Amino acid sequence: MNIPESKTPRIVIVGGGFAGVKLAKSLKNQNVQVVLIDKRNYHTFQPLLYQVSSAGLEPDSIAYPLRKIIKKHENAFFRYAEVEQIFPETKSIQTSIGDLSYDYLVIATGTKTNYFGNAAVEKYSMAMKTIPQALDIRSLMLQNLEKAAISSSDNDRKSFLNFVIVGGGPTGVELAGAIAELKNNILPRDYRDLNPRDMRIHLLEGNSRVLPPMSEHASKKAEQFLLDLGVQVHCNTFVTDYDGKTVKTNSDLILESETLIWAAGVTGRPIKGLNADVLTERVNRYLVNTYNQVNGYKSIFALGDIALMKTEDYPNGHPQVAQPAIQQGQLLGKNLIKLIEGKPLKEFVYKDKGSMATIGRNKAVVDLKRFKFGGFFAWFVWMFVHLMSLVGFRNRVIVFFNWGYNYINFDKAARLIIRPFKRLD
Ligand SMILES: Cc1cc2nc3c(=O)[nH]c(=O)nc-3n(C[C@H](O)[C@H](O)[C@H](O)COP(=O)(O)OP(=O)(O)OC[C@H]3O[C@@H](n4cnc5c(N)ncnc54)[C@H](O)[C@@H]3O)c2cc1C
Repeated sequence: MNIPESKTPRIVIVGGGFAGVKLAKSLKNQNVQVVLIDKRNYHTFQPLLYQVSSAGLEPDSIAYPLRKIIKKHENAFFRYAEVEQIFPETKSIQTSIGDLSYDYLVIATGTKTNYFGNAAVEKYSMAMKTIPQALDIRSLMLQNLEKAAISSSDNDRKSFLNFVIVGGGPTGVELAGAIAELKNNILPRDYRDLNPRDMRIHLLEGNSRVLPPMSEHASKKAEQFLLDLGVQVHCNTFVTDYDGKTVKTNSDLILESETLIWAAGVTGRPIKGLNADVLTERVNRYLVNTYNQVNGYKSIFALGDIALMKTEDYPNGHPQVAQPAIQQGQLLGKNLIKLIEGKPLKEFVYKDKGSMATIGRNKAVVDLKRFKFGGFFAWFVWMFVHLMSLVGFRNRVIVFFNWGYNYINFDKAARLIIRPFKRLD
């Protein structure tokens, strides 16, 4: 892998997401060698993936080169590779570009889409976890609008114009709102050969309310915002089957649709090689102690979405969102230095900064510890927080410009089919 031998301890970080990047940054110019490995050469700002899917943002404004993040770290290396296996007994890993030994290994590999064992849904639905997947959704959506525009059959047109989103968490709600805005603002102008009323957006949620992780107040407000935008919300509804054309559910609801977007859940992305009992059964997360040390392994740590730390306040682990990942990455950087120096480690305590979701222009909900609010001010807060959280000044400027332009012109400028989506059979 062309990593020089080091006299200082080598810390290998697998995954350049929120957790891995924060950890790498917190180890800047410390007396250690850092090797950051990711199967992509960029960091993805997943909270804005839905804007790429719905043609609101270009993909490069939510991605950032990992090499650039560590360019000023004298002690750090990046390798573009997939880590395939861990050998704890020899303290080494196998990757797609070779093997590497480590003194400390940090697993920050995040999650992948969970289809809950439904192979048909996995085969025909669209996932939204990565930039290529978001671009596939964008292409498919635009391709289906084009097909609808030339379709002579009412049934086919209906199917091309029916957009079904499964999962009423923040991702599904945000995507449904963004597609509804496309229907309300773009269709009447650019697709004059289509009747906007024929385009339907269905949001399916298995729970009794949308945004189940947020407060009842936020759920009610979000649902009202969605209804105002014309989204049809179906709670207590889950998909049982999909063959690429017909969506079957647990109720009488059957939908003809060429586009099913699956935002219903995630499962961990562990790496082979550790004892099976360190992984939780259902969600595939590594069980860690309050220092993020994987149970039973002194030199192996797990962070962020892939880690499950049970505490009194969070008996089922922390929520799989950016803040726990960032805060754990920050603390582990300090703790690894303490560990090397033989000093006592500090336990992780999660500081919940609240949660939020946006449903569209001037429409968002925010839950803070002390108060909850929705509407224009919440939308403004949502925009500010997301803008400031983006990695890189250039990305912030581009996103700010795009949002300003879209706000003034009611436009979504990235409506491009660059690489047509083809379903693999
Ligand atoms: C669509 C969507 C919207 C979201 N919206 C929000 C939001 O609004 N607010 C919020 O707080 N959170 C949101 N989240 C959740 C948030 O993005 C995650 O909690 C966060 O990314 C977790 O960070 P992480 O570092 O643990 O993992 P990730 O950010 O997922 O990073 C994992 C990294 O590991 C790499 N990797 C995986 N396996 C390997 C391997 N074997 N070898 C090498 N590299 C590997 C991946 O390429 C990736 O770069 C959203 C997630 C999604 C998918």
